[in-house]
Amino acid sequence: MSATIIDGKAFSAEIRGRVAKEVAALKRDHGLVPGLAVVLVGADPASEVYVRSKGRKTVEAGMESFEHRLPAETTEADLLALVEKLNADPAVHGILVQLPLPKHMNADAVINAIDPAKDVDGFHISNVGLLGTGQKAMVPCTPLGCLMMLRDQLGDMSGKEAVVIGRSNIVGKPMAHLLLGESCTVIIAHSRTKDIEEVVRRADIVVAAVGRPGMVKGSWIKPDATVIDVGINRIDAGDGKTRLVGDVDFDEAREVAGAITPVPGGVGPMTIACLLANTVTAACRAKGLPEPEGLTV
Ligand code: NAP
Repeated sequence: MSATIIDGKAFSAEIRGRVAKEVAALKRDHGLVPGLAVVLVGADPASEVYVRSKGRKTVEAGMESFEHRLPAETTEADLLALVEKLNADPAVHGILVQLPLPKHMNADAVINAIDPAKDVDGFHISNVGLLGTGQKAMVPCTPLGCLMMLRDQLGDMSGKEAVVIGRSNIVGKPMAHLLLGESCTVIIAHSRTKDIEEVVRRADIVVAAVGRPGMVKGSWIKPDATVIDVGINRIDAGDGKTRLVGDVDFDEAREVAGAITPVPGGVGPMTIACLLANTVTAACRAKGLPEPEGLTV
């Protein structure tokens, strides 16, 4: 039987709709307008597209969007000064410094200069530590989106075996912590993992965040497993065109899995929705208001 296709586009629209409702209520009841500041240094074309899209969706959700575009030759000191200014600005509840930064900057130093309460990307070392110790954190957007889809699909995940393929700081590791938080039995596989097919075949839940087109074959998937494909890979589609594919061989895996995210239209759209959700959460925490339900962990 063919798997249920998890529609990330529709689900992300639902999350953005919930965010917009929360924002309207915050405005109405507390005069609070959540604000997101996005900082882009240089003119990386992919980053330009992300930043534009983030700004548009922030405004669509009724929030305030502050965009700061700095030239590629900006010094780290000047960027840190802007971060300090945003940290002190009460209209700014979330700060996102778009990565990658130019090579002359120390990205860790910049990220760790952001007020952890405004760190809506969840990359600050304090938030990494809070998530790792099971405390209330700002959770990185992509793994948060994966978790929301898994909760929506599976409900209680307690006791399920979960394999996360990939151990990056932005996806694999936080994903594993989130699944541990759901009481899954978690394995993190990576490039040195032996017999990776066998490891993946145990999993009730597979999250693939590798960056290798179609690496996870249908024969690796346990029947009825839930498969979340984080990978975004551009491949040659012939006749001079390209197309996006995930880390999972979708056509094979959908014949075995119980549910699966497509690429595109799966995890991708959830990331911005979770950025907006994190901004609302940050605004509520800053004002000591109750957090909206279901928009974070
Ligand atoms: P990354 O930092 O390059 O990490 C990739 C991970 O995959 C590493 O841990 C690496 O292992 C592991 N790996 C590489 N080859 C492997 C193999 N043959 N077998 C098993 N594991 C292998 O990548 P990332 O930033 O986590 O991103 C992963 C993918 O997700 C990319 O396609 C990226 O574009 C996509 N992504 C999507 C979104 C979104 O949807 N919004 C957001 C972020 C990333 P080692 O550590 O051993 O090298």
